Amino acid sequence: MNDRIRTAALLATGDEIVGGRTLDTNSFYLADKLAALGIDVVSIMAVSDDVDRIERAWKISLAAADLVISTGGLGPTSDDLTTETVARVADAELRLDQRQVARIREIFGRRGRPMPDNNLRQAMIPVGAEVVDNADGTAPGYRLRINTAEGRRPWGVVLPGVPREMKAMFEASVLPWIAECTDPGRVIVATTFQTFGLPESALDELLRGVVPASEGRLAFRASFPKISVRVSVTGGPEGAASRLQTMAEAVRTRLGGAVYAEGDASMEQIVGELLTAANKSLATAESCTGGLIGSRLTDVAGSSIYYRGGLVAYSNDLKQRLLGVDAQTLRTHGAVSEETARGMALGAVRVAATDIAVATTGIAGPGGGTEDKPVGTVAIALATRSGGDDYEVDSRMYRFWGGREWVKTLTSQVALDWVRRSLLGLPPLEPEALSPRRRAVSAARGGEIS
Ligand code: ATP
Ligand code: MG
Repeated sequence: MNDRIRTAALLATGDEIVGGRTLDTNSFYLADKLAALGIDVVSIMAVSDDVDRIERAWKISLAAADLVISTGGLGPTSDDLTTETVARVADAELRLDQRQVARIREIFGRRGRPMPDNNLRQAMIPVGAEVVDNADGTAPGYRLRINTAEGRRPWGVVLPGVPREMKAMFEASVLPWIAECTDPGRVIVATTFQTFGLPESALDELLRGVVPASEGRLAFRASFPKISVRVSVTGGPEGAASRLQTMAEAVRTRLGGAVYAEGDASMEQIVGELLTAANKSLATAESCTGGLIGSRLTDVAGSSIYYRGGLVAYSNDLKQRLLGVDAQTLRTHGAVSEETARGMALGAVRVAATDIAVATTGIAGPGGGTEDKPVGTVAIALATRSGGDDYEVDSRMYRFWGGREWVKTLTSQVALDWVRRSLLGLPPLEPEALSPRRRAVSAARGGEIS
């Protein structure tokens, strides 16, 4: 049936939005709700309080989608222009909705105030539109069909800008209606992979061809330090699910250890799950991360099962006294060295009597760098108990980039990722994979990686 709603365009109206004073959280909210209904959101537009601009934005949106949802510009003041513009675009007269007049009067009555005349503007509804009631505020919304120049009849839904009112109205009246208008034979199914250690360009290269454009979509979202890869497939319920499974399997195979989670799970959650499954315990010895790794681990409820605790040994003195790092090691190699990191990890694994300990020591900056060891130089070590009183320890020296917070975050991520990899029997991320030079070269080569 060609009456089905498959695509939507969102339109946010208000000087405060385009002026950068208010974040368009309305569209953010609506886009998420519509995606969950399997509706393809083709565009999100913001426009100032100006009749000509609003009109143009409506026409563009109507030309692109089966449904346009507009928020804002329904207030009683002269800068609220949505309704008169929509009436113009729809070529509809405005009528005063007496039921809305009574309701607005009643709201003012309850507040013990007379209704100003300009509030009558809010009771003006285009002829042919169906009112969407507003239980919390004065401005009602409405929906109507609009004839376009191309001879189509997309829907327009008009809601107020106040986020609380807009959401309540959307959920109570608009969402159930849209759900009835969507195609039951067509769904969007999706899986998200959380990855770490490969730049976006490399992910793109590795996944080339996995999701044919005609079958679905591959979307990358970098939110430091991770990059999410979302695979979505559109189609009939059974077909789409099985095609998604095939594509997801291909993604798993191609990305291998770079995928640390499927779904929303964080790195620390996954580390916790793996430790729990292996019945192993973890300790931390942190210098440059200042407890960040411990903090992240303890963000996970129930982490006491596997996380024994950690030492923040920021000074050389504490590295020696609490972790037993050799004074000679510190003198010869310095605090930021693989040797010191190994000493810290071994100290922690013994003191805490755990199966695994991870240690960090580095120069987070902005000061403290030398030619030899510039800002961003970080040593990470992992000690594991191989049985009885025998321990194995491994270390790497990384060259990270960015500011102080960035270096700390990246260090904590690499350290947690190393714990994860060791539990899976995978080697740690090699420093070359994470160096800024390597990233630049890899990007220049179009993401080729070896
Ligand atoms: P009202 O009846 O309250 O006047 P309205 O439809 O005219 O409703 P606006 O005046 O445009 O709404 O906005 C009301 C409030 O909602 C303002 O505080 C505005 O910042 C906020 N708002 C408007 N649009 C958005 C949006 N897209 N995202 C988040 N907040 C918004
Ligand atoms: Mg406004």
